[in-house]
Amino acid sequence: MKAFRGEILSVPDDPAIAGPEAIRHFEDGLIVVEDGLVAYCGPYTDRLAEAEIERLDGLIVPGFVDAHVHYPQIDCIASHGEQLMQWLERHIFPAEKAFADRGHADAVAAFFLDELIRHGTTSALVFATVHAGSVDALFEAALARDMRIVSGKVLMDLGPDGLRDSVASGRADTEALIARWRGRGRLGYAVTPRFAPTSSAEQLADAGALIAAHPDVLLHTHLSENPAEIAFVAERFPEAADYLDVYDRFGLVGPRSVFAHCVHLGDRACKRMAEAGAGIAFCPTSNMFLGSGLFDLAQADRHGVRLGIGTDIGAGTTLSVLHTLGEAYRTCQLRGTSLDPFRALHFATQGGARVIGIGTRVGALLPGQEADFLVLDQGATPLLARRCAGASLHDRLFALQILGDDRAVAATYLRGRRA
Ligand SMILES: [Zn+2]
Repeated sequence: MKAFRGEILSVPDDPAIAGPEAIRHFEDGLIVVEDGLVAYCGPYTDRLAEAEIERLDGLIVPGFVDAHVHYPQIDCIASHGEQLMQWLERHIFPAEKAFADRGHADAVAAFFLDELIRHGTTSALVFATVHAGSVDALFEAALARDMRIVSGKVLMDLGPDGLRDSVASGRADTEALIARWRGRGRLGYAVTPRFAPTSSAEQLADAGALIAAHPDVLLHTHLSENPAEIAFVAERFPEAADYLDVYDRFGLVGPRSVFAHCVHLGDRACKRMAEAGAGIAFCPTSNMFLGSGLFDLAQADRHGVRLGIGTDIGAGTTLSVLHTLGEAYRTCQLRGTSLDPFRALHFATQGGARVIGIGTRVGALLPGQEADFLVLDQGATPLLARRCAGASLHDRLFALQILGDDRAVAATYLRGRRA
């Protein structure tokens, strides 16, 4: 058993729906951890001897959940000058080809996961590459670090030379990976067609069959990111009502589906996503960086679509979920909506965890959940310290989102153990 005393904040439900009761704040709080799980999280009580308790100086929040990120693209961050389709051709596809080499995949996976921990991210839904070995590399590294990671081999039978699978090999590799990794550590599998432009109709249908055959796996892909991409999809699938409908026709839209971006969705698609219980990964730094557009939170809210936050490295510009929340705020401002900092924290923790299918395991430090949390240092920089001094919880949390990044993450704990 372990116990931690300090100021604790978690947001188990969306405050826009549940109201202020969604916010759990204990100025002098206590977390008791047994076998890696939260046994108690609430106001400090003297039920334990002081000697057994570790004092944590800072604001304790649940570990961040990155709902969309590409580990093989970490070395392509800050690649200049293109929008989505040209950026993929020029920067991303060449980098992903290198993952045919397992040694390269191992080295990048290790660096990537260490960086996630350093940024306070304890769970993530991660794109690998078309190579099955890229998933083995990531899962082995995640197992060694005891992280909750969901990933899958990318399906792309219409991809460029050197990054193409076939319907048959895509299916066989996916089945083998699911069988090899099911039930190990804190890992989960996601059937991962890259996006509609890089898969044949046969492969998209196969992805639907894989989802139907395996009730414990997710569907993870991209949707409506960039106008040129959307036009390309509309031309290839003229019979579909819209981009989402392309996926829907192949059985890919349901409560286990996670769609990154969704910057340019019509109301029909939004309504359908809400009905199906599908989730969106909102990736503000990526959408700004590639000039893709501004995600419309008010539209998603009108239809009640579930939301998580994605850094989307390498189009994203930071692995910091904290900094990404600041960019989410700016995106919403440009759309005329104000994103509340408690709501933002919910999206980055329990909300995102629900979207990626791990919401009962992590996200809010509720009893029975895994004890993944981090300690935020409100004095990480002189300016942050000055802004937070004497400020309310609301103002401190917002300042952390606007001024904070990895420097504000003092420590990360995985199942109650400091990482
Ligand atoms: Zn992406």
